[in-house]
Amino acid sequence: MKYISTRGQSPAVRFEDVVLTGLAPDGGLYVPERLPVISLQQMADWQQLSYSELAFEVIRLFVDGAIPDAKLKKMIADSYAGFSDPAVAPLQHLYYNQWVLELYCGPTLAFKDFALQLLGRLLDYFLEKRQQHVAILGATSGDTGSAALEGCKHCQFVDMFILHPHNRVSEVQRRQMTSVTGDNINNIAVEGNFDDCQEIVKKAFADQSFLPAGYQLVAVNSINWARIMAQIVYYFYAGFRLVGKYPAVSFSVPTGNFGDIYAGYLAKQMGLPIRQLIIATNRNDILHRFISSNRYHKTTLEGSLSPSMDIMVSSNFERFLFDLFKRDSKRVTQFVTSLSGNVQQVTEEEWARARAHFASYSVDDAATCATISETYKRTGYLADPHTATGIKAAAMCDTDASIPMITLATAHPAKFTAAIEQAGLPAPGLPEHMADLYSRAEHCTVLPNSLDSIKQFMQQRLAARND
Ligand SMILES: *Cc1c(COP(=O)(O)O)cnc(C)c1O
Repeated sequence: MKYISTRGQSPAVRFEDVVLTGLAPDGGLYVPERLPVISLQQMADWQQLSYSELAFEVIRLFVDGAIPDAKLKKMIADSYAGFSDPAVAPLQHLYYNQWVLELYCGPTLAFKDFALQLLGRLLDYFLEKRQQHVAILGATSGDTGSAALEGCKHCQFVDMFILHPHNRVSEVQRRQMTSVTGDNINNIAVEGNFDDCQEIVKKAFADQSFLPAGYQLVAVNSINWARIMAQIVYYFYAGFRLVGKYPAVSFSVPTGNFGDIYAGYLAKQMGLPIRQLIIATNRNDILHRFISSNRYHKTTLEGSLSPSMDIMVSSNFERFLFDLFKRDSKRVTQFVTSLSGNVQQVTEEEWARARAHFASYSVDDAATCATISETYKRTGYLADPHTATGIKAAAMCDTDASIPMITLATAHPAKFTAAIEQAGLPAPGLPEHMADLYSRAEHCTVLPNSLDSIKQFMQQRLAARND
């Protein structure tokens, strides 16, 4: 299987290269040249598989021989062995046709562990084979950083530099990052905001000449195809729990960068009977504005109770546009590169097709709190604020009540206690394996908000590692 860039100016590459780069050289995102389609018979054969067994069947279609089967199977089993629930992604009934898929049983209590536990192992496998080193450089406003650190801390060929805005992430999020230790781990608190961190990362990627010879940078944000690939699996897994009893399932997905819901769209294209996909956003609702009014444009970023969905532009939306524009990469490039200050629109026919794929709803902080409290009173289920946007969107969109509606529960409520308390409920404690988080030592370097200071720090650290 080859992977092509949404912007059409980079050559097609193999899985290994997609994993080791992230963004295509032309600035586009990689997508599979052709999506595998799963027959009904094959799906029936997969229905009883455990999570890891199913993940192996789905993922090997995309890896396409780049890793021997036995090795891949072990990597996948290892990725999910540490999850606290034997089901890995347990499905819970809420009420009527409403369900939640709990995606927070991994080491950092958010769904990003599904992708990053595997990505760390994929990177180390390919790098060992090539005897090459990379540096992961990423900016995080919270969940990505800790999941990346947990996923890559054992990697022998990877050095990690994770930037977060100094004093602007929650204490649980900060401690989850700064308590991860190892010679290859570097937590950097930048004296600036999240946008400043992202700007530094973008510039460092654009000119990597500051790195020691032989090193390159790798992106671990959701533009990396391997992350999307790993997320396709839990749509099948959840669907298989209910299809048979029902003709189809629907999903409501809390999303900001369009990563998680794009994986659901792919599962549907691959043949999983998905009736409806709901995009749930918070007040940063560029995706909802597009679906409801055919207007895609930037507004100012606002803080919310669901910070992991606070974005101005949804980077993975480019992958969907590539399909919507029937793979016309010139139009994709034109659309995404003229965003600054402009409202982008698609044709009426394209907009109708987009709405046939997705419904959407935007949930503000007040509705998020109300949903947390109502859901708890009604069912005893304590939703984190991200999950609550999904539950609310599922209730507000026009749906078929005879089809199960599965909201993706993207984080454990103990990660976002401020919202739970604002909803009038007692803050939940951390799960057992993390109960000592507040007493673990923290390791972090505070640096000024400048590209040069980050570059210098990285040079020193990498030079010290190679002595
Ligand atoms: C990252 C994240 C999201 C949004 O994920 P997308 O990749 O933007 O779809 C939602 N909830 C939580 C808890 C997250 O960490």
